[in-house]
Amino acid sequence: MTKPRTDIWYDHPADQVAQRLETDIREGLGLLEVGRRQSRFGPNQLTQKAADGWPVILLRQFQQPLVYILLGAVVLTLVMREWADAAVILAVVLVNASIGFVQEAKALKAIDALRQSLQTMANVIRGGEPTTVDASELVPGDVVQLQSGDRVPADLRLVETKDLQIDESALTGESVPVEKQTSALPVGTVLAERTNVAYSTTLVTYGTATGIVVATGDRTEIGHINELIASADVLETPLVRRINELSHLLLKVILFLAVLVAVAGVIRGAKPVDVLLSAVALAVGAIPEGLPAVVTATLALGVARLASRRAIVRKLPAVETLGSTSVICSDKTGTLTQNQMTVRNLWADDQLFKATGSGYSPEGRLIPVAEVDADTGEPGSLELDDQPVLAELMRTGLLCNDARLNQDDDGHWQVEGDPTEAALLVSAAKGGLDRQLQQQNRPRLDVVPFESQHQYMATLHRADDETIVYLKGSVERVLARCDTTYSDRPVDAESIERQVDTLASKGQRVLAFAIKRFPADTRSLGHDDLTDGMQWLGLQGMIDPPRPEAIKAVAACQQAGIRVKMITGDHVGTAKAIAGQLGLKGKRNDGELVGLTGAELEGMRDHDLIATVEDVCVFARVSPAQKLRLVEALQSLGHVTAMTGDGVNDAPALRQANIGVAMGITGTEVTKESADMILTDDNFASIEAAVQEGRGIYDNLIKFIAWTLPTNLGEAGIILVATLLGLQLPITPLQILWINMSTAVLLGATLAFEPKEADVMTRPPRRQDEGILTGPLIWRTMWVGGVLVLATYFVFAFKKSLGVDMDAARTAAVNVIVMGQAFYLLNCRSLHHSIFRIGPFRNPLLWAGILAMIGLQLAFTYLPFMNQVFESAPTTWRPWALAVAAGLLLHVLAELDKLRQRYAATKSSGSNA
Ligand code: ADP
Ligand code: MG
Repeated sequence: MTKPRTDIWYDHPADQVAQRLETDIREGLGLLEVGRRQSRFGPNQLTQKAADGWPVILLRQFQQPLVYILLGAVVLTLVMREWADAAVILAVVLVNASIGFVQEAKALKAIDALRQSLQTMANVIRGGEPTTVDASELVPGDVVQLQSGDRVPADLRLVETKDLQIDESALTGESVPVEKQTSALPVGTVLAERTNVAYSTTLVTYGTATGIVVATGDRTEIGHINELIASADVLETPLVRRINELSHLLLKVILFLAVLVAVAGVIRGAKPVDVLLSAVALAVGAIPEGLPAVVTATLALGVARLASRRAIVRKLPAVETLGSTSVICSDKTGTLTQNQMTVRNLWADDQLFKATGSGYSPEGRLIPVAEVDADTGEPGSLELDDQPVLAELMRTGLLCNDARLNQDDDGHWQVEGDPTEAALLVSAAKGGLDRQLQQQNRPRLDVVPFESQHQYMATLHRADDETIVYLKGSVERVLARCDTTYSDRPVDAESIERQVDTLASKGQRVLAFAIKRFPADTRSLGHDDLTDGMQWLGLQGMIDPPRPEAIKAVAACQQAGIRVKMITGDHVGTAKAIAGQLGLKGKRNDGELVGLTGAELEGMRDHDLIATVEDVCVFARVSPAQKLRLVEALQSLGHVTAMTGDGVNDAPALRQANIGVAMGITGTEVTKESADMILTDDNFASIEAAVQEGRGIYDNLIKFIAWTLPTNLGEAGIILVATLLGLQLPITPLQILWINMSTAVLLGATLAFEPKEADVMTRPPRRQDEGILTGPLIWRTMWVGGVLVLATYFVFAFKKSLGVDMDAARTAAVNVIVMGQAFYLLNCRSLHHSIFRIGPFRNPLLWAGILAMIGLQLAFTYLPFMNQVFESAPTTWRPWALAVAAGLLLHVLAELDKLRQRYAATKSSGSNA
């Protein structure tokens, strides 16, 4: 085999390409040959461009405005030869940077790992058998089948196409899909015009094709430009941006206060060195060092938590947006329901039949419903020879079908392909049709695959002296194509619709079937051949029960003030019946659920849609384009909207939605590409779980901010008061640095590990435009900061009045601040409820942090080395008691403040009612 070179493939006819690559278009490569080529060519993967190395990530930790101040302070103290101060500030900066570094590296790694767990699968023919393999296992010469929604797994020379269109924007930047074909092109055709090649990582937006792999891994075209597209992930979300804004605001406030302190000191005639040191201490004290690190840590932790709840976050902002989701639009089939289809009823020739048995097991029978003996319940018997229409109905379901059923080792039947089609295999088997025999008698010549916008599938088969088209699809589409019935009678649309309504009202998904004969020499089939002249056969109705966990999740969402809407391509009657079983809200006055069909939607003007969209709970027979319109209508009402999707055409709606949710199992690559989040189990309950986690994660960030702002501003306030009033400093600048460095890590950061509060799903969604600095938070910052300042001055003055020396008095003051912060940390575990309500010991890490902090303070107070560095001094037990008392006081006050807020909230909600 010659060495593969991509540029020779497009100018050769397909069969020559197959020859050169020593492969067979029908049979594919032999399995042994695949193994040989795999060891020769390696995995079909792009070499990962190295992400930002550790030096870059480390440097990034210093690129924050708050750190600039600290670095400035280091320089300043060095110039003033205050070695100890310089060393401690530098330590603060370094500790902070290393925490940030570790967190960010961890976060990037977590995100990277998740990205890699999403593998692309490829449909190949090997050894004559169609199989599905991981795309990384492809080798040159493999014969790959493409269908709409696939991501092209390697560079392919196309050998067969059917209406194939490919979105090559990843490669060429051109966003209009390109039509592809198979014939050879002149030498020198440029890359974008090589219409007989499908390039790796481009997306199939329409049609189907078969192609031979001509290049894998880095040898693909995308491999050549890999460098250009590999982009580092930025850990930025709206919240991170808002926090950065907050940092900038703080920066200005801090600089202003520092200047104020300096000016006041100069006016009072203090030594310049002391003035500068005070200003620096104030700045360092006021800066919430832990903030950036805790935000990254919390979000990264969130990504991991979400992954454990089967939701893979592709875009980091989704973690926080989830918490404010107010509407979830979910697919019905497979997400709200189990996608376990079982045909229950068949209707042919005005006769209704019942299928016994359960699941995908072919055990069971077909029974004419009318002949069930009303007295004994004994079924009548079925003679297929007497039921030509029923037999043809089942044959259509059997042959117009791409699904496969395999029995695994435990005897369970596994579906490969579309469950709707698998159910038709089962009903045909129960009716006594043998698939192999039928396929031999009527070999398939061509197919028009199912696409949700067409709602039907058709296949062309060879019969003795004619060809036959089998058509199955939604009742509307099939009926519109029928002139007569199979037995040459006029079609009675009314009685058909009545039957459909009866089946749909039981929650059955109803498929219609029809047939058409063509001359024997017909070889190919297109949509144009199916517009009319079909013969009506009948219906099959299948059940697809709701997922039990989805019922619970729907209830939880609705209790949390989140509207759940069902979006489906299915019949409105079926959808409403299932919506009723799921407990969806959205009833009219007469108790009937409100449903809207795609046709009704089409006729609606935008403002009418906006006026009604909130109250509708079921959208049926909806096209993907209408999904986009729904999202936009909901967003125009201010709703933060999550929308699920699996098909290619859902991509625009997913991109538009605040949270685009793709299905991990049944979803196409195209939808995954445009999603914010991917459900690994396709289950609605996982969306609910993700919302729950999202709310908890956001809560924890706010809790940290509610802890850090008052404590930092309190420290700054102590210095400010001293310089403005000309008092002795109750704590030295160096001691402030000490407190700041240790508490941010040991106390504040542990809030990121706070478990969700019990009531996360009983309160309404947070408004997305809600800022961080809310009224209550500003109020808290003021008074908690104030209490810290007062308590510190009180203990300091009290100790001094007892005549203890300055160092011991200051040590006592430091212990007051630390104790105050520790006790206040317990308040911040919930901003609304008391610690007893949320369970005192549910965050062990927090208690570990508090114990470690106490240990450090003991060292600070009693270790001679620490005494020397920080000018601290051993104290008796009494100042400790005072510190604990002050902390307790702060804790009780903060709890009373929460109580007052809870009371105000119940009163205002009471008066609203
Ligand atoms: P959903 O996924 O919301 O249930 P679909 O778009 O899959 O909706 O299906 C819409 C309609 O198309 C179904 O109600 C059914 O009548 C028809 N249909 C579904 N699957 C197939 C199929 N494989 N072949 C033919 N028709 C189908
Ligand atoms: Mg479907």
